[in-house]
Amino acid sequence: MTVIPATVVTYPDGELTGTADVVHIAPLPDGRSGVVLDRTPFHPVDTAWPDQPADIGVLRTAAGDVPVLATLTGGIRDGALVIGPDLPVRMGTEGWTFVVVHVVEGAAPAVGESVDAHVDPELRAALSAGHTACHLASLALDAALEDAWTKQVPTDAAGRPAFDMLAIQTSRITPYGSTDVYRIGKSLRKKGFDPAALADLRAVEARADATLAEWAGAPGAIGIHRDDHTLAGRRTWRCELPEGAVELPCGGTHLTSLAGIEAITVALASTEVPGGLELVMTTTIRLAG
Ligand SMILES: [Zn+2]
Repeated sequence: MTVIPATVVTYPDGELTGTADVVHIAPLPDGRSGVVLDRTPFHPVDTAWPDQPADIGVLRTAAGDVPVLATLTGGIRDGALVIGPDLPVRMGTEGWTFVVVHVVEGAAPAVGESVDAHVDPELRAALSAGHTACHLASLALDAALEDAWTKQVPTDAAGRPAFDMLAIQTSRITPYGSTDVYRIGKSLRKKGFDPAALADLRAVEARADATLAEWAGAPGAIGIHRDDHTLAGRRTWRCELPEGAVELPCGGTHLTSLAGIEAITVALASTEVPGGLELVMTTTIRLAG
């Protein structure tokens, strides 16, 4: 029976490097190996909600650099480690221990060995900017659609009807951007959303962009807050918007301030699907300097 500790993760604090001990090596079905460390700066892609892509980078060992080709989420139950898409439960499910699995090819470091973990800084910076833009754009979209509701519905972190939360299907962070897919079907209409609000998408875009223009470059701090430092620990994204601080659950990485943002813009497109509409929001962020 394998006893592997829950991985302590340092990426929520913006860490890119760190020394760690190898606690487990898992052979992967494709012949590669999964390296589990006691702590890591590498952000793994989440299995149940794969919004932010995995970090890549290297593990520096006594024998040389070992490239990390992908970073996956692993879960352990009854001594058995289940990795990536095979993991049958959501992050944090009771009875499971969650670990970060660094995928390497060829010779892997040995259990007990100390390694220096180094995350690719350019990719991380691009994804952190994209993730911050994704959150801000979803709040701006909620604001742009706040008059589209005829009934009381749950509200977002800024107190507006939570279109994003109620309609989101998938969210994918990209370098310096994101793509969010929403479904406007029978259940959203029953909750009181009037699809006529999406008849003029250019007007919705303009309202969202105007909100985002007020936030870009403002002095507000952005950060991830947590008490539990393991992978499965609950983490909160907090952003000081000009109108007040907002908080929402988030497992990813982010910019540290609104000040470095030059502009965030959204593009909306809708297509008819059986039973309703699919709305795609493509967000782009440009940093100052
Ligand atoms: Zn997030």
